[in-house]
This record gives sequence, C-alpha cells and structure tokens, in this order.
Amino acid sequence: MLFNHDKASDFVKSLDLDGKGGAGSTGSSDTAVAEAVEAVNPVMNTYGRFPLTLVKGSGSYVWDDQGNKYLDFTSGIATCNLGHTPEKVKQKVKEQLDELWHCSNLYHIPNQEQLAGALVQYTFADQVFFCNSGAEANEGAIKLARKYASEVKGIAGDEPAEIVTFAQSFHGRTMATLSATGQEKIQQGFGPLVKGFRYLPYNDVAALDDLVQEQTVAVLLELVQGEGGIVPADVQWVQKLVELCKQNDILLMVDEIQTGMGRSGTLFAYEQYGFEPDVMTVAKGLGSGIPIGALLAKEKVSRVLQPGTHGSTFGGNPLATAAGLATLDIISQPDFLKQVQEAGDLLQQQLKGLQAEFSCIQAIRGKGMLVGLYMPEHAAKLVEKLRDEHILVLLAGPQVVRILPPLTVSEEELNQFIAGCKKALSQMTS
Ligand SMILES: *Cc1c(COP(=O)(O)O)cnc(C)c1O
Repeated sequence: MLFNHDKASDFVKSLDLDGKGGAGSTGSSDTAVAEAVEAVNPVMNTYGRFPLTLVKGSGSYVWDDQGNKYLDFTSGIATCNLGHTPEKVKQKVKEQLDELWHCSNLYHIPNQEQLAGALVQYTFADQVFFCNSGAEANEGAIKLARKYASEVKGIAGDEPAEIVTFAQSFHGRTMATLSATGQEKIQQGFGPLVKGFRYLPYNDVAALDDLVQEQTVAVLLELVQGEGGIVPADVQWVQKLVELCKQNDILLMVDEIQTGMGRSGTLFAYEQYGFEPDVMTVAKGLGSGIPIGALLAKEKVSRVLQPGTHGSTFGGNPLATAAGLATLDIISQPDFLKQVQEAGDLLQQQLKGLQAEFSCIQAIRGKGMLVGLYMPEHAAKLVEKLRDEHILVLLAGPQVVRILPPLTVSEEELNQFIAGCKKALSQMTS
C-alpha cells in the first residue's frame, strides 16, 4: 500500500491543534500551531520524544508526516505484536463499533466473558479481571495479594502485608506500582511511597534466603526485565523462588505485561520455566494497541474479590475485548507461536553475527522477540543512527538497545534490519 503524503499533512491539519482552523484550514493555521506550541506545549512534558511524528502504520512499517517510511522494530513498546493495523483485529473492532462501544460493568459483556474464557483456557488461571493498562493490572495484583493476606492469612493491622519485588524491576507509574518498582529514578520526588514492598536483588540465589518473613504474602516479578535492560531470569533462581513460595504459602505473581502475548516465543514466558504462577498481569500486546489490561489468578486467590471490592469503568468494555479476542485468537495458535520462535532464533543468530564483527556489542540478551543489545556508551548512538537508516528501535536503560519486531516479521524484514545495523555500526566505529 502506498502512502499518500498529502493525506498525511491533511491529517495533521485536521487535528486542529490551535482550536480555530480544523479540517480544511489553510496554511496560515500551521503558523498558529507553531506559535502555540512554542508558547507552552499543551501536552505535559513527561516524555523525551524522538524528533518524529508518526501518522500511519501497516504491518512492520510506519510512516511519518513527511511521507518517510520506517521499519518499526519498537512495536509501540511490545504492544503491536501483530504489526500495525492487523486486518483481523481491525475487522472485529469495526464490527463491534457498529454494535455497542461501552455499557459499564453493571451488565454482562459477551466479548469480555469470551476473552476471559480464552485466557483461562490457555493459561494456569481460573479467573480474569479486566482493566485498561499494565499499571492498573499490577495495581489489581497488589490489591488482590493484600486482600488475600487479610482474608486468608490473617495478616491485618498496622503492619501491612509485604510484597517482595526486585532491583531494576518495572511495574508501572501509579503510586502502588511505582512503589513496587525497584528503581529509585522512577520514585524520586513522589514520596511517601506506598508501604509494604521489599526489594531483593534479581537473579541472586543466595539473596533468596531473606525472601520469607512474617508479613510476606507475595512475590511480584518479571521473567525478563524489560525497562530494566532486557535481563532474563535464570532458571535455577526461578526454581528456588518457586520452591520457597510453595513451601511458605507465598503467592507467586508474574508481571507478563511486556513478556506476554507471544513476545517471549511462547504465549506467556512462565511456560518456559516449567511452573505455574498464582497470579499474572497482562496488558501491552493484549489488544494490539487498543488499550486493555488483565489480571489473571487461580480461584483460590481470586475468590477473595467479591462484588464491590475492585472495579473499573472502562475495564473489559465491548470494544477493547473485541480487540483482545481477535488478537489472542491469532497469537495462541501453535503454528503462529512456532513461527515466532523460529524468527526469534534467526534474529538472535543474525545478531551474533553482528557481534562477531562489532565488539561494541558486549552481549545479546532476551527471549524470542524481546531482545537487547548490551552496548554501554554506544546504545543511544545506535538508536539514532538506525533512525537515519529508517529503522526504529528503543533503549532499555542507557546501555541497552531494545529490539521489538512485530511477531509477524518476515525474513526479508529481518535481513533489512541487520543490513541497516551493519551500516550504522560501521559508520559509528570508523
Ligand atoms: C509497560 C509495563 C508496565 C506498565 O504498563 P502501562 O500500560 O504503561 O501502565 C508494567 N510492567 C511491565 C513489565 C511493563 O513492561
């Protein structure tokens, strides 16, 4: 499909940023927009943004407002796992658009019940609660663990139940989830933090000796730390963690917001570690870019939530769960997941070839299509140089280039990516 540059600039104009012109306005409104933006940007300054305005996406590609085409290996941060505007999801959402968008959770929602049923079928879980984002799913997991502590374990009173999380983890930006996050830079200036979290070093077997304490009710962990630098959990460490949780009736909660929905090469990453968690959170890839989050749990845990104890106005609405249903329907197919694994293996193999050629790549980490290049000093530069080659990738911390191809990526697109990396790295090191 060819991109129409004129349509793109029409689209930007139609955004009516100055509130005066709107669709069909003439060139003079562009100046007004520029002036307004220079005065005070109406969008809060919470993101360091790349100097790019993306206006269209299809499959593995996006286009900017100048009509330039980019190979997108960011997937909207592990969200557009089926590529951009995937046909089957689009169809399902379009059908739902004609029927009912929203009705609140005071009524039964068929799509929501179907999606919950499908998630239960494909995972360890017995029940699902829907929300709108990753942070909200983790917030729900934290509430669930606390309710379980007070109702089942009798941990109540002034000292809260304690949830153990890990250094360099990332669990979200709400007060409870940033308190759960093991990174000071995320917490700076937002104190007092929510009580009841204790942080242990990640992948440290000896440190697990301190895991179990009187108030400990749950452990929350990523099986591949995403924002923390694409660091997979060691198998032995996870095995010991699982054992300790079992022996001491501690809930094992996995944050699969980034690793889930096929990203790691299996539908969920825990499958590769040979255990079943008690609780899991999912978001990013679940709706292919339509906002949706989910909290999954075994019934022995989820039963502590009764009507009135937790909720969300938008959570699991007909439109979002339509996107979730169509997305899960594709990603859960064994043949699809097999292809993801094969493409992931090919990518890793190609990256190893690059590493042999360019010593600034000190390590290749990750699982499936969640891959990091550890290259201290050079990571930000490579992201920038690749953009010049019309290839988009991300950072995961200052030292790691994060590569998140759509799970539907073709061999040709992987080759294009590696060729772009070669060119960029050659320029950087010459
Ligand atoms: C992105 C992410 C979150 C937060 O999700 P939001 O939708 O941004 O709230 C939480 N945990 C992990 C592991 C993530 O990658």
